[in-house]
Amino acid sequence: MTTTTSKPSGAEATETAPRTYLNYIAGEWRPSASGETFDDTNPARRSEIVARFQKSTPADVDAAVRAAEAALPAWRALPAPARGEIMLRAALILERERDRLARQMTREMGKPLKETQGDLQTAIDFGKYTAGEGRRAEGETVPSALADKLCLTLRQPVGVVGIITPWNFPMAIPAWKTFPALLAGNTVVLKPASDTPLSAAALVEVLIEAGLPAGVLNFVTGPGGTLGDTLVTHPSVNMISLTGSTEVGRHVAELCGRDLRRCSLELGGKNAVIVMDDANLDEAVAAVAWAGFGTTGQRCTATSRVIVHERVAEAFAEKLVATAEKLRIGDGLLPETEMGPLVNQGRVGAVHEYTEIGTSEGAALLTGGKPLTAGALAEGAFYAPTVFTNVTTDMRIAQEEVFGPFVSIIPVADYDDAIRAANATMYGLSCAIFTENARTVFRAMRDIQSGLIYINAGTTGAEPHLPFGGMKASGNGHRELGHKAVEEFSEIKTVFVSYPPVK
Ligand code: NAD
Repeated sequence: MTTTTSKPSGAEATETAPRTYLNYIAGEWRPSASGETFDDTNPARRSEIVARFQKSTPADVDAAVRAAEAALPAWRALPAPARGEIMLRAALILERERDRLARQMTREMGKPLKETQGDLQTAIDFGKYTAGEGRRAEGETVPSALADKLCLTLRQPVGVVGIITPWNFPMAIPAWKTFPALLAGNTVVLKPASDTPLSAAALVEVLIEAGLPAGVLNFVTGPGGTLGDTLVTHPSVNMISLTGSTEVGRHVAELCGRDLRRCSLELGGKNAVIVMDDANLDEAVAAVAWAGFGTTGQRCTATSRVIVHERVAEAFAEKLVATAEKLRIGDGLLPETEMGPLVNQGRVGAVHEYTEIGTSEGAALLTGGKPLTAGALAEGAFYAPTVFTNVTTDMRIAQEEVFGPFVSIIPVADYDDAIRAANATMYGLSCAIFTENARTVFRAMRDIQSGLIYINAGTTGAEPHLPFGGMKASGNGHRELGHKAVEEFSEIKTVFVSYPPVK
């Protein structure tokens, strides 16, 4: 593996005074009641503070929810196409600012520029898509079983929506929740992950510039536990939309369940690529390297298991190790970097623990398995791309989400064995199969238990006009993106109109 360790040139490298951001409540930027802030640091150089943010309290969350509640009547009364116009302007502003915001995102969370540009592009594309939905929020008109009656459905907002987001897609995920929530006529309190509040603050600034009225979108930063619980249990919040770990999702679902509050959860994954013995191995290796080590393995859809037919398992492993060892690792701002750091120093220890677990479980470590500390890498949260083989489905490294550049190869005897292995986790987010056999393709589409299925491609990648989400413990049945996203944030009313002749 090669390291790309020199300091990037440009404004980012010389910036000295990080800006302190405030919360955004009722149309004004306000300090937290706590008077405290926290640092948003660059995981490639931990001494570099990118920005400072408010360490908010439950009182700040309460103020944000009240502002959202107050803004709701006027916002929901605005026609949906007019709300859509604001989303379109926001998408165009994001497009204008794409490269600046991508660089800022790389400094904030580490992934290389090509990937942060892709993150921004998803938000831009979905903003444009959502704007169109403002003119297409169809209901149904259906015949009644009775004479002189008309039956139809109406879409209405749910109310105040609490949006809680993770750090791995710092702009795309806040955008793909906030745009449809607002388009559907809801008002929002957004609480981003504490590793990436800067990208979420940029989304707020963009929506303000696009003309969003005061109070419609409110933004509060700070610790997930206390703020999250306050938001999730607030009596004036009508819906929670969370993307995060399955552990936090379970907790949020329990709290919402007590009050029968609507909650939409997009959670973890343990995504597999199946490689059959007739697969194009080079294509499969390239796809696994990208889906397993891209974003340093920190995508919800990252490939973390490769289920390989035993006839080709050794050849596949050799090629994957060779590819992993060639990856150029370093600061994501450097154009040659292919893999950046983990999101923070704590994650290095968490990923390394899985190397120790895999070794103690009897799997064979083929490459990686250690933090990278040579030269300038010592300043950041770098971990070597790691490949284990001879993994069995009962091992913890085959069951638990590692969320790092960590791939486990599971050799299998045939198709049935491969499907059994693929489905043998509590998760069901994304799965892929490499084969040249059309029958195997269709059987896999039917047999794999996952919300996203890729044929002859890796487990990552979403298109904004198609539903996105997982089965089993990867979610609670909702789907994001596409027209499903607006549905998720809407109440459906069924209306029966009687018009018999007046007697
Ligand atoms: P996380 O669960 O630690 O945090 C997610 C968000 O929840 C953060 O904003 C956090 O502050 C907040 N939070 C923490 N405790 C809370 C509580 N008690 N109540 C309410 N909110 C609380 O997840 P993360 O580390 O930010 O992100 C990584 C996880 O997200 C991985 O498991 C990944 O698979 C998952 N993810 C899923 C998808 C998907 O679409 N399925 C997409 C991206 C990430």
